[in-house]
Amino acid sequence: MTSAAPATVLVFLDPQSENGRIADASKPQLMATDQGATRGDGVFESMLAVQGHPRKLDAHLRRLAGSARLLDLDIPAQDAWRKAIQTAITEYRRQHPAPAPEEDEAVVKLLVTRGVEGADAPTCWVQASPVPASGRRQREAGIDVILLDRGYDSEVGERAPWLLLGAKTLSYAVNMAALRHARKQGADDVIFTSSDGRVLEGPTSTVLLAHLETAEDGAGGTRTTRRLITPQLDSGILPGTSQGALFAAARAAGWELGYGPLEPRDLFDADAVWLISSIRLLAPVNHIDGREIGTPALRKQLTAELNELFATIE
Ligand code: PLP
Repeated sequence: MTSAAPATVLVFLDPQSENGRIADASKPQLMATDQGATRGDGVFESMLAVQGHPRKLDAHLRRLAGSARLLDLDIPAQDAWRKAIQTAITEYRRQHPAPAPEEDEAVVKLLVTRGVEGADAPTCWVQASPVPASGRRQREAGIDVILLDRGYDSEVGERAPWLLLGAKTLSYAVNMAALRHARKQGADDVIFTSSDGRVLEGPTSTVLLAHLETAEDGAGGTRTTRRLITPQLDSGILPGTSQGALFAAARAAGWELGYGPLEPRDLFDADAVWLISSIRLLAPVNHIDGREIGTPALRKQLTAELNELFATIE
């Protein structure tokens, strides 16, 4: 096994250690027969900790529990996770004091595998590591995206629940292969479509689009309606915690909200499209399959508006 990046902090959930057991990320820590390694059998979460505070923690713990339920995994109670997360963040900040408050960020991952072959307990740990610089770059410059067929229709999730489409499983090899495919084509990211022509999600993100409609207000002026739309949650996609939180903030700020079904032409007709996720946050989409989405000025204005709303989320 090669060494993990020295900056990574590991905390295993362990009934013998109330606050979790810190482990050395540069040393082997998993059994080679762990089913997370041999089968990719498990679930995970990724969240951003800002100045020691894990954002949207309740939503991530809820989704972790939901994913575990879909895989029949019996995982530790929320309290054990909260303590281990706090231990990991505290240790990470101790090892890597941030030079400035705005740089005091870490990626916090929660990982669960089905455990060692033959054993009946899952392996669970928390990992804290640096935030990749690419995320900030893509947030600021925007991304170019290609549409890729995921090969399933949009109703397969209900028909074949064993595909685990609504769970955040450790089996991300397909998602990573799609991203590598995009990069070979000169793009930054992917929006998956279903075999029946629906817009689904990114390999690690949720799709959002905005429409502005300006109409006369009856008093000689005009009124602009802002609509924020995301694909239907029951189309075999992962429910995004960022999308959920942003929708709540946008509704409170007067945006109208909508849920698909969406087709690729809805993306091309949008005033702006984003891929949103917990670590990279809102990445504005400049081009899809080489076609520009909206205009640079509108993308910038709407991105700034939504970023302001997203910054209010705990
Ligand atoms: N969809 C997929 C497939 C993902 O992997 C992710 C996040 O990693 C998301 C959506 C966005 O979820 P969240 O906003 O909770 O990070």
